[in-house]
Amino acid sequence: MAAVDRVTGTYVFQGANIVLPDGADIGPADIGPVAETLAMTTFGGPEVRPSSGYCEIPTAEGEAGMAAFMLDNDTVLPKGWRSVPIRQAISATAGGMVTAGSPEGLLFRAYHIMQWRRESAYCGSCGSPNDDAPGGLARLCPVCGRQEFPRISPAVIVLVTNDRDQALLAHNANFDDGIYSLLAGFVEAGENLESTIIREIREEVNIEVDRIQYAASQPWPFPNSLMLGFTAEYAGGALKPDGTEILDARWFTRDALPNLPGKGSVARHIIDRWLRG
Ligand SMILES: [Zn+2]
Repeated sequence: MAAVDRVTGTYVFQGANIVLPDGADIGPADIGPVAETLAMTTFGGPEVRPSSGYCEIPTAEGEAGMAAFMLDNDTVLPKGWRSVPIRQAISATAGGMVTAGSPEGLLFRAYHIMQWRRESAYCGSCGSPNDDAPGGLARLCPVCGRQEFPRISPAVIVLVTNDRDQALLAHNANFDDGIYSLLAGFVEAGENLESTIIREIREEVNIEVDRIQYAASQPWPFPNSLMLGFTAEYAGGALKPDGTEILDARWFTRDALPNLPGKGSVARHIIDRWLRG
């Protein structure tokens, strides 16, 4: 990990949106950082640094340096700029999954780090204002020496199939109307991934699964997840959504699917892979 020598591009965020110059469509070339000078002259100046609203994003050696800052939610954008939900931008540009180093992957990295920077202004142990650790990404407490790195929360997401070649898709209370996706849940302390999968599926829809196999993974910085995708097979029990987190869950065949999550999510990637057989 190298520190940033020279910032050439800056991501501008506002809440879970990326702020972009106006344009007709959104393509991979549009969701990168805007020129440092343009961002700073439009939205701030050197006085913005080093507040929690601005941070540099360390990159691999040899890459141009990036920075990011987060506008307040009530900041009115100047003419010629617009605010686009990051999920919508990713869905519009990503062909499949978001990979590290792609325009979408760099956007995810910058957004993840930006959010963490805002939440790590103070030491979690003694409450003193944190400094930046030299040469890298960590925060360092100048009083007690505690170091803090960006938090990454692992979560499993699982395609369950049955012996009738159907896939289990569920409508979560947080989803938009009509959207069905894979079952998912956060890893708890003391669990391995298999035990998380078995517990979550039992809790959410009351069934048992086995033959768990790893499928794919993808960062998901809303706010700080790493989604670990698996497949599993139905092994028993009567399907019964918990009614609070999962409002509906059903077995679907390939030719009669509900509305699916957007492109650029690991859920969609795993569902698409199953659809291709
Ligand atoms: Zn401290």
